[in-house]
Amino acid sequence: MAQNASQSGEDFASGSTQVLLHFRDVFGRQWGSARRAEGAFGILLPKYKNASKSGEDLVMSCNNTFVSAEFPRVPRVWPGAVFSPGRFGIVHPSLPWHEVMEAYYWDNLKVAMGLAESAGLGVNLAFLSIYRMIEAEHLTREESVLSDRGDWLLLEYIADTTDLSLPQIDGLVRSGCDQVAETYGWSHGPAVLVTLLHPINNAPYVPGRHGFFIDKYPFDKICLPTDLLGDSEKFIGAVRHEYAHAMALNRTQGKCPLWLHEAIAMVAEHGSLNPRRPSVWRDPNSLDSAFRADRESDVGSRVVNDAYNQSFCLGSFLIQIHGNSGLGRLLDAFTDNSFGQELLMRVTNQRPEDEALKQVYGFGLNELFARARG
Ligand SMILES: [Zn+2]
Repeated sequence: MAQNASQSGEDFASGSTQVLLHFRDVFGRQWGSARRAEGAFGILLPKYKNASKSGEDLVMSCNNTFVSAEFPRVPRVWPGAVFSPGRFGIVHPSLPWHEVMEAYYWDNLKVAMGLAESAGLGVNLAFLSIYRMIEAEHLTREESVLSDRGDWLLLEYIADTTDLSLPQIDGLVRSGCDQVAETYGWSHGPAVLVTLLHPINNAPYVPGRHGFFIDKYPFDKICLPTDLLGDSEKFIGAVRHEYAHAMALNRTQGKCPLWLHEAIAMVAEHGSLNPRRPSVWRDPNSLDSAFRADRESDVGSRVVNDAYNQSFCLGSFLIQIHGNSGLGRLLDAFTDNSFGQELLMRVTNQRPEDEALKQVYGFGLNELFARARG
């Protein structure tokens, strides 16, 4: 996936390019594609992740699996003219939030913000969380400098909010990303935008104000609070955490479950030693849903904390067996199956992570959870 992403910008920056988007669901299955004029919805970019040229088309693959959990689920309808990727694909096409999310995935924040304001927050404020994220990114974009760093990296920050220069910020970000690539045996490739959020967003009602990762169409986007720059060790750790998400997403082509995403992100951030034990040990499904508890409530934030701790334990456990490189091989094992093997997995309902674990560690999902529990 990464191999085509470093093509030079001139090819793609014309604005008349037709973009053909392929969407995959959380199991990596392609469920649809859509054609768009580049720039019609998004900003013009010098580079795109996972992109290759096909005639006049710029073909981009989108996973969009790592998205807001609070999005309401309604019966699955695949619309023809309007569409929404990944989890948002199960939103009814009549919802105006379809268009909001399309603009958001293009990182066209001004349009997304305008549409979101007129669309409203939905029944029971279902869209509040994503609204706040769009607002945070939009407020930042209004005052920021966006800099293409010449390869796979783009940086966005507000000059007045930090004493550090652009090259200094570039150095800190790269040091975190390089550590992830070296530790887990990965090559940089898919375009990544690292945005330092406007300090105004450092408020309790902003979800993800401590940092988050989003799989957007043109690039993977990492948002971090600007004040983290005051502590370079912490900042680099946070970069490692979020960049590990980018690696896990791209190496597994969107098949990595949330608990494993966080397991790798936690060990990437903190190292594998002395993870805190969770107060409740959850099975794989409940662990994934625990990350989606309401982080702003007392009960919810304890549940989410617990989920991070359990993922951390699982990551450390795997590292004890085959080291850091084992985790890298585990991610690669999601996508190296033959057609026959994939077919068998579908028929037997085997999860991709179960197959990948057996391939690299010799035991599957349930055994991992039982053994790591101790
Ligand atoms: Zn994370």
